[in-house]
Amino acid sequence: MKKIDELPENVGRIVIAGHIHPDGDCVGSCLGLKNYLSVIRPRAQVDIYLEKFSEDFGFLQGAGEVCHELPEREPYDVAFALDCSDTERLGDAVKYFTAAKRRICIDHHITNEGFSDENIICPDASSTCEVLYSLMEDSFVNRAVAECLYTGIVHDTGVFKHSNTKEETMRIAGRLITKGADPSYIIDETFYKKTFAQNKALARALDTAELWLDGAVIGSVITEKDFEELGIGSGDLDGIVDQLRVTDGVEAAVFLYEAPEGKCKVSMRANGSVDVSRIAREFGGGGHVKAAGCTVSGGWREIIDQIAGRIAEQLEH
Ligand code: 5GP
Ligand code: MN
Repeated sequence: MKKIDELPENVGRIVIAGHIHPDGDCVGSCLGLKNYLSVIRPRAQVDIYLEKFSEDFGFLQGAGEVCHELPEREPYDVAFALDCSDTERLGDAVKYFTAAKRRICIDHHITNEGFSDENIICPDASSTCEVLYSLMEDSFVNRAVAECLYTGIVHDTGVFKHSNTKEETMRIAGRLITKGADPSYIIDETFYKKTFAQNKALARALDTAELWLDGAVIGSVITEKDFEELGIGSGDLDGIVDQLRVTDGVEAAVFLYEAPEGKCKVSMRANGSVDVSRIAREFGGGGHVKAAGCTVSGGWREIIDQIAGRIAEQLEH
């Protein structure tokens, strides 16, 4: 498939799924695709399955119709997996994907090995939303689609500042503004705005952060006790690892939080020569060269030690 418009005119039932813990690129790409399909294939039935996501994305068209429950369904004619580097990341929606008659994955993770029948994976693209735009006919991109895609690009580029931001990213973002996306609303309301509790969590993580490997690595942990004391949930920790990363002299930042069932969720960011996607993959996760993550069983101290060891190995070479 080179363009979404190649879908048959009479396509019937379509399912769209993204990754667990949906972020801006995941929500933006799923809703952007659905809104585009409602323009080019208005008779098709399109369902989106995602875990619950931030209410900040509630203004995007169709956000209220996303399904969070997964009842038994007849196999779909076409399934899209968006912003997902492996089938595990699809969560429970994997059952719809596996059963569908035609399966298409659209993604930009370097760790995606092509789990679908049809794979459109562009590791150089800033975001799945950027890949999606390149598969769309510009003339059919309306304001609703533009707002979704712009949101995804903003989130995965950290507001156009990460190294994945290219000339093409800016060209597409500019085009989406012309189509009606409101940059300052989307950037402030969905990216920078923090609740009081989220700011307190950031403060805790910065206050307890430590430098390792002679200042080459910064790390911090939010423990179950912190969650209780601060009255926060795991959805309140976005952006912490990015703030750690901008510390002067740091090659890599590692942020962990204690998750249920004796596991820790790890987020990693790199500045220089470290490839954090390699480390994440080794621990069963994935991502990009400069931004990756994984969920690991065990206590946070031992996990930190193991990850710091992997970073040290890379720095030595
Ligand atoms: P974050 O640290 O913001 O959760 O994720 C950074 C990047 O790594 C994102 O592109 C995300 O999709 C990917 N990532 C994070 N955690 C995991 C994981 O457990 N498995 C895989 N495959 N990718 C992950
Ligand atoms: Mn993405």
